[in-house]
Amino acid sequence: MTAVATLSFRDARAMVIDQVMAARAAPAIDDVGLDCAAGRVLAQDARADRDYPPLARSVRDGFAARAADTPAKLLLIGEVRAGEIFSGEVKPGETVEIMTGAPVPRGADAIVMVEHVTREDGGRRIACPAAKPGQFVNPQGSEARNGEVVIPAGRRLDYSSVALLATIGAVRVPVFRKPRVAVLATGDEIVEPDQQPSDFQIRNSNVYSLVAQVARAGGEASILPVAKDEHAAMRIATERGLDADLLLLSGGVSAGKYDLVETVLAGLGAEFFFDRVLIQPGQPLVFGRARGTFFFGLPGNPGSTMVTFELFGRAALELLGGQSESLLPITLAPLAADFRHKPGLTRFLPASLSAGGVLTLVPSQGSSDVPALSRANVFLVADAAREQWKAGELIQVLMK
Ligand code: AMP
Ligand code: MG
Repeated sequence: MTAVATLSFRDARAMVIDQVMAARAAPAIDDVGLDCAAGRVLAQDARADRDYPPLARSVRDGFAARAADTPAKLLLIGEVRAGEIFSGEVKPGETVEIMTGAPVPRGADAIVMVEHVTREDGGRRIACPAAKPGQFVNPQGSEARNGEVVIPAGRRLDYSSVALLATIGAVRVPVFRKPRVAVLATGDEIVEPDQQPSDFQIRNSNVYSLVAQVARAGGEASILPVAKDEHAAMRIATERGLDADLLLLSGGVSAGKYDLVETVLAGLGAEFFFDRVLIQPGQPLVFGRARGTFFFGLPGNPGSTMVTFELFGRAALELLGGQSESLLPITLAPLAADFRHKPGLTRFLPASLSAGGVLTLVPSQGSSDVPALSRANVFLVADAAREQWKAGELIQVLMK
């Protein structure tokens, strides 16, 4: 088999994104109700069906006035509530009591908050402080113009996007069909979770973390039976997996005598884009394409499988699902204690972000330590080019 590239974390991610963007076809389009649209990827631009707001609107409870009149004792000529329109006009020296959300009456150009006025003369006069033109008024079309694209195709819809679709009356939402993802665990030592393993066996946890990660990234996973570390069995299972839109294999990508995943894929005519990335966990990590389907050979240690999917698999899946981009949820947090690592690899270590936003490493036996992974709520990201950080310094954090 020909040697393939060893890449830095950033270059490997860029490679995944470039390859998938260059090869992907537009997914089929489904039509879903508003109540099922969150989490899906919008397939056509959504446009405003009118100006928002359609009329200049008050954003406070108070009094609509002409700013040029103020400060003044204004004559109260009426009231306008949300859901109504004031039929008259505010003339010099006059004011109209107005509720939040109500259209600003003709003639008025500012709202004075109810808390800032005093009612005089039995409530017929309103003493207003100086007001600026436009204060507490959202002008017509200031949020969106009629016909404007308010959500571009390719955006993953979240709860606020769904609110916007409801606002513009989009009751049926065109979304991309979810990519089908085949998940295949390999390894002679792997048994199913409902079986009692011998002491030298391990329950198959990777397919379950992957199914959860795939669902979160907008894919529809199907689990294939575990493949033994044996060429013929693995080839049959891999061929089945290549019928999906994306194939995720776990295990069998290290340098061991029974790590057959690459050999099997090569025998199926695969093209490999990389098979090692300068990260830990997850150094042996295979990305390629066979029979038109992208695949990842993820290293089998549970921490490696989880991290490499988040870093690379998720990007491929989100782009195959029609998203216009895939972002890594990385932020910065202050360290609770000094931290050092050996430079050269970008490390992703189980860590805990407290409610107060401070980051602590979770003690771990390494990437096989599922209890430690489960205790962590984030991964600390240690840059490959840097050796140490002091307590209180900001360090990168990958959200889990
Ligand atoms: P491998 O990448 O095949 O060398 O696997 C590395 C280690 O990961 C194995 O020794 C197992 O302990 C563990 N492992 C592999 N596959 C799984 C799996 N499906 N679920 C849980 N642990 C696994
Ligand atoms: Mg193995």
